[in-house]
Amino acid sequence: MSNPLDERRQGLENEYFHRKNQEAIAKLREKMRVAAQAKEAGTSSMKCPRCDGTLKEIFIETVPIDTCDKCAGVWLDSGEMEKLTQTDIARWFRRLWNKME
Ligand SMILES: [Zn+2]
Repeated sequence: MSNPLDERRQGLENEYFHRKNQEAIAKLREKMRVAAQAKEAGTSSMKCPRCDGTLKEIFIETVPIDTCDKCAGVWLDSGEMEKLTQTDIARWFRRLWNKME
């Protein structure tokens, strides 16, 4: 036999978590929208972890990497280093320096 108070508590908990999920989904959608806009504009929505510069996406062959417009730091997303190591490393460095000049 179920207790009406337990059911009420369970209902409130479900409502609370449903609302939290909706809020998290809305925040995530907003972040994705901002990131998509930045990508279209050719800029990243991310700030440099080292300084207050803005990260810009450049391509080394087909691999996109983020470089800071202020300190020239280079930032790699997951898997990008692995892709870069599959290219000729000397050619890769030469192209990187040419793009940052
Ligand atoms: Zn920077």
